[in-house]
Amino acid sequence: MADGEFPWEKIVRPLLDWYAAHARALPWRRDADPYRVWVSEIMLQQTRVETVIPYYERFLRELPDFAALAEVPEDRLLKLWEGLGYYSRARSLQKCAQTVCSRYGGRFPDDYDEVRALPGIGDYTAGAVLSIAFGRPEPAVDGNVARVASRLTGTRAAASDAAFRARTAESLRGVYPAGECGAFTQSLMELGAVVCLPNGRPRCGACPVAAFCAALRCGTQAELPLRKKKKSRPAFDRTVFLLRCGDCVAVRRRAPGGLLGGLWELPNAEGKLNEAEASAWLASLGVRAGELRALPPARHVFTHLEWAMTGFSAECCAPEGEGLRWAPPEELSGTISLPSAFRKYARFFP
Ligand code: SF4
Repeated sequence: MADGEFPWEKIVRPLLDWYAAHARALPWRRDADPYRVWVSEIMLQQTRVETVIPYYERFLRELPDFAALAEVPEDRLLKLWEGLGYYSRARSLQKCAQTVCSRYGGRFPDDYDEVRALPGIGDYTAGAVLSIAFGRPEPAVDGNVARVASRLTGTRAAASDAAFRARTAESLRGVYPAGECGAFTQSLMELGAVVCLPNGRPRCGACPVAAFCAALRCGTQAELPLRKKKKSRPAFDRTVFLLRCGDCVAVRRRAPGGLLGGLWELPNAEGKLNEAEASAWLASLGVRAGELRALPPARHVFTHLEWAMTGFSAECCAPEGEGLRWAPPEELSGTISLPSAFRKYARFFP
């Protein structure tokens, strides 16, 4: 069956009934306030629900509305985001809040084009906020929903295929149930998250729309959705230094733009340095370090590349070094946001 021929209208009621009975009680579902819905949708991009929950609760406690988010100092914002990764999301979240405050007086707009024009908001997020918070018939096709649609229709298009996602959104838009738009969006997301699971593991026996599923009928549910061949991710060697001076550890600010731009880091050099090269690199920074001790190797995977990290720790006799800040433990845990790649070595401090 071509995916355009799927009887989308038939899945609406079974999905809504199933969602009403089985929806997980998640903190962002307590009310449909646009700010809460929007923050949760941005946090949930590329990040698991269980990971997001404590971040979300803390974030909402400290920054309860657009005005608070628009005004929070960037360092504090990044600290609240520390460990979630993809820090550009936090920055564009703030830019969006500033725009909502300056252009709309702190109220999220409810017009599709206006929402779509806000910083950091794509088709998916616009659909999610408009349907969940405003009850508009706007679909939100993320990876979960695309996987469900792919299996239901039995398409040979990859789930990441933009044209397939656009066709799916268009088909769904035509069957959104008046008065239950938010529940319908969430029912599709929920089905993908807890029943129509990825990696060939769908729980078809628990699926409320199994009767309509082309993949189940053809026995192809484990092989769909088809994937586009992934580009291989280049790996780069990096040598990371945990430099201590008394109670403090050396950190520095990364250059703005690019990977982890503007964030704090442990001093680090390109390449896999041996002890002599590491000492020479530290000397070039103006750091007089004592004996270098090797730390275990570590690996960190970013979206488009990965780091294979070699680590050294050393005591320094004086808090000096070009561009370094010597941070006590309370700063490291309280105010300085250190990306996860460097936390792999910062855990050896103090
Ligand atoms: Fe997914 Fe199975 Fe339901 Fe089809 S029947 S939508 S493969 S869980």
